[in-house]
Amino acid sequence: MSLDERSSLGGPTLGHAAVMDNAAEVQETCDECGFDANDWTRDRITKELGTAADAWREVFGRHEADTLHARPRPEVWSAVEYAVHTARVVEFWGDACRTVTSGGVVDIDMASYPDADVFPYNEVAPDEALADLATHFASLHGLTETASTEEWAAPLRISHPEIEQAFHAMGIADAGTGALHAVHDALHHLGDVERGLLPA
Ligand SMILES: [Zn+2]
Repeated sequence: MSLDERSSLGGPTLGHAAVMDNAAEVQETCDECGFDANDWTRDRITKELGTAADAWREVFGRHEADTLHARPRPEVWSAVEYAVHTARVVEFWGDACRTVTSGGVVDIDMASYPDADVFPYNEVAPDEALADLATHFASLHGLTETASTEEWAAPLRISHPEIEQAFHAMGIADAGTGALHAVHDALHHLGDVERGLLPA
């Protein structure tokens, strides 16, 4: 399964970024949620990561557990499934950012892609899913607050060259744009959750 196919299972659809000659010029964008990396400074990324857990908590707080576990349609993940998926994505990028800021290469295992159709994420209690998210938002937030300018620009190196290339082509090319991608994923999925919870 390709990276694009996997991302279409539940992640923001990747690959919309215009491919330019100079990979460093590519900015991550998303036709589905309107995300545009050009709108984001490091300061805004840091602020967003500091408040993201509360935003998810606020949306979850308006609904009963049964509703949060229900899939709006069989192929659309429940709020809890999106929350656990997002926690894994934010965790991945927190780890990846820490690896590249210390000069390392990110080891990626596509079999561990956080797919709620594969893993039993819906068995997680809503409060546990929120706590899981909060832990990983806080961890990445800490990195965005403390990384030096040099660390923030540390190039994203991945053990699989074709995956590294795919990320770079999407504008995810260093620690800072990796952290920003985690922010995009979280905002994109909070939108999915809010849409899914609208009364039918
Ligand atoms: Zn999006």
